[in-house]
Amino acid sequence: MKQFEIAYVGADEFRTDLKMLQSHCSKNGDVNLFFQIYSTILEEEPIRELCGLLEEVFPETPYMGCSTSGNIVDCQVSGEMTVVCTVLEDRDTQIKVLQYDMDASPISEITRQVIEETERNPWVKAMELYCTIPENSTTNFCVGLKDVRSDIQIFGGISCSQDITSSDSVVFSKGSGYATKSVVLVFYGGERFYVDSMKITGWKPLGRKFYITKSEGSVLQELDGFPAYQVYQKYLKIQNDENFFYHTLEFPMFYEHNGTTILRVPVASNPDDSITMSSDMDVGSVVRISYGDPATIVDSIKAAGVEIRDFQPDLLHIFSCAARRTFWTTEEPTYEIFPLEEIAPSSGFFSHGEFLRTMGNLNQHNVTLVIAAMREGDKDTDYEKNIVQAKSLTKIPLASRLANFISATSLELEEMNRQLADMNEQLRQSSMTDGLTGLYNRKEIQFRISAGLDYIQERDFSVIMLDIDNFKQVNDTYGHQEGDNVIVGLAKILQDSQVLGVSSFSAGRWGGEEFMLLLPECNIRYAQEIAERIRQCFAQTAFEKAPSQTVSIGVTQARGRDTLDTFCVRVDEALYEAKQTGKNRVVVS
Ligand code: GH3
Ligand code: MG
Ligand code: MG
Repeated sequence: MKQFEIAYVGADEFRTDLKMLQSHCSKNGDVNLFFQIYSTILEEEPIRELCGLLEEVFPETPYMGCSTSGNIVDCQVSGEMTVVCTVLEDRDTQIKVLQYDMDASPISEITRQVIEETERNPWVKAMELYCTIPENSTTNFCVGLKDVRSDIQIFGGISCSQDITSSDSVVFSKGSGYATKSVVLVFYGGERFYVDSMKITGWKPLGRKFYITKSEGSVLQELDGFPAYQVYQKYLKIQNDENFFYHTLEFPMFYEHNGTTILRVPVASNPDDSITMSSDMDVGSVVRISYGDPATIVDSIKAAGVEIRDFQPDLLHIFSCAARRTFWTTEEPTYEIFPLEEIAPSSGFFSHGEFLRTMGNLNQHNVTLVIAAMREGDKDTDYEKNIVQAKSLTKIPLASRLANFISATSLELEEMNRQLADMNEQLRQSSMTDGLTGLYNRKEIQFRISAGLDYIQERDFSVIMLDIDNFKQVNDTYGHQEGDNVIVGLAKILQDSQVLGVSSFSAGRWGGEEFMLLLPECNIRYAQEIAERIRQCFAQTAFEKAPSQTVSIGVTQARGRDTLDTFCVRVDEALYEAKQTGKNRVVVS
């Protein structure tokens, strides 16, 4: 693959340049060509003129293009209207350009047709797409393309205006022409065509995490239950005014989605303190404010450069968020991608959003750099394995150190909070339970009885009270430890849903060797059966030293006017009767 650039400066010059290109290509035998046009001018007239001239000289050659916030050729910003000619040198390499009108068909229909096209063309290995700025979000589009054959790489960008706050954008292609609500894409493929795509952000999470508690599409309403804007106000002192967009640009939201990290830019703050984001963000996701750290960005690109170089690309396509361009205030807009320049010829544009498929899912990113590396033919084994020399920052800026300090302390605080939450949960558990048996303690059982009594109009509620027979003798004969074993033995039975035959119950230790079993949704007859099963099971339980023991049981069901007292007194009386009438028995009251 080869690449030629023509900067459009006027019709005559352009025609001359195209003819020179034509004669150069025909001398070389290069016939398989393809044009990509990037324009910071959105008006229809100049774009039509450019396309007309292109078709005049190259009537058979496919082309596609879009409006941008800046055009990139060989890692430099190029002219207002830039035409990039890609020469496919391998006869087997194919490309196919398609354009879909988003006004004419619903997104689901467009994605279905794209999938059908990839199925009709099994040679396709990659899809590069440019779409105009969507009214709502690209979520449906991305989700729709999930079913594209899994080995096809997808990358590209959302077209843009020079002014990144504008929602105007266009795409165009041969045959379909100029459109303000369309997606244009090109398939690449062939036996010896290879492609690799990746993303780089270099943005780092800053400070604590927030949960998205309320959002609707791309309108982020609440973080941790508070209006979303307050996060930017409280932590960064950014005012809710017309400059909100510019001030927050350096601090996008960082979140995990589809197993990858995604950046979303706040586009506008609304009067109700919600924030309109650059695309959808789901309720339940964790987000953090992030910041662009020059050192991290430079290091990330250095690392990616090594990987890209190893791929031995013929050329690179670069989609860089327009927000990144404004980030390097004191440097050239393409400062960060300079290290890639020596790897291969490159072209692309500053975009409104970036597309990349990772792990099967197509995601729309913001503030991100997406790079596609393409090659025809196998790798050269003698390729010089040079490490890409990115300019290292000699002095780490103070802001970078402070941001690191904030992030480290936030992570420590989050970890401490997590430990505290764990400890609180343990405390809550132990305040409700009995240490020896793990059953609920008396206080908790009383609470649960009262709660159960609130619903007796709607459902049955029975209680079983148990007291081990002649327990003093166990202690006296076999020692206190063995007495404990007997208590634990009965507790285990009271927690065994197989013995009980129900899954909804609360077992508690009422005192020494006395227990309560609460049975919501059980009538007296069923509770009696359960009590009988417990009695028999306990009578068959062997202990370390003591022989098997018995238990006396009282059973009652809650009645209309029962209170905690009346209910407990009645079951206690039933238990007393069981003791009085010979023990090891169940008495119902
Ligand atoms: P009855 O059949 O009438 O219930 O006779 P009993 O001997 O079981 O009744 P009593 O209330 O006289 O004795 C209960 C004994 O339980 C007294 C107390 O020392 C003992 N006990 C209370 N809590 C524990 C404990 O946690 N572990 C042990 N090993 N014994 C305990
Ligand atoms: Mg007792
Ligand atoms: Mg007893």
